[in-house]
Amino acid sequence: MTLLEVSGIETFYGKSQALFGVELEVEEGEVVTLMGRNGMGKTTTIRSICGLNRPRTGRIAFAGTDLSRLPPHRIAQLGIGLVPEGRRCFPNLTVRENLIVSARPGKWTLDSVEALFPRLGERFGQYANTLSGGEQQMLAIGRALMTNPRLVILDEATEGLAPVIRDDIWAAIAKLKREGEAILLVDKTIDEILAVADRCVVLEKGKTVWRGKPGEFAADLQNRYLGL
Ligand code: ATP
Repeated sequence: MTLLEVSGIETFYGKSQALFGVELEVEEGEVVTLMGRNGMGKTTTIRSICGLNRPRTGRIAFAGTDLSRLPPHRIAQLGIGLVPEGRRCFPNLTVRENLIVSARPGKWTLDSVEALFPRLGERFGQYANTLSGGEQQMLAIGRALMTNPRLVILDEATEGLAPVIRDDIWAAIAKLKREGEAILLVDKTIDEILAVADRCVVLEKGKTVWRGKPGEFAADLQNRYLGL
């Protein structure tokens, strides 16, 4: 079943148009990556899906429900777990409290988040503002999982992290995929993206310009659309 369907959305910041027709789909259990150079509209697409920037035209449906009139908290309740760029957590709550405040019943619990990120488990009693950047990213992912979403959206989850922590995050994403989680992923590290993705969507100037399987995203396309 198609979990997320984005079709022809156009989104503005004031008078300035950022999206000019984004098309993408995520099926149950699928990892889809959204790619494109800086400023091409990846974060705006995610914000549109989550109700944070409402598209002026086009359609976004989640498990058959039209999201266009729903506020962000209702969209989250329907089962979209966002890990935003900049990994926002509550700095003055402990790691455990950060996880508990977003919890909803399901397979993701403190124990299963600890099993995914043992390093975070060792810090359950610490305040979030004492964590390293990588640990905060693990916490941000843990918080999204604790809502037991049907779709996890990760916006630049490995940006600015030390290589060893990046590896931990990619290993966790691979584990989520093996467990059948549906994931929409924005990231710039192409090899890791292509290793984990089932399908890729490329944006250019706010528009979907290429869709296909990672094996089809050949060097000339990577060069044309990502400048690699
Ligand atoms: P990056 O990889 O740099 O995060 P992106 O692909 O996520 O880029 P967006 O952040 O979605 O791109 O930006 C798409 C367009 O919208 C850009 O032209 C950007 O300048 C513009 N834009 C983004 N945020 C705002 C804002 N708050 N106000 C006005 N314009 C914005």
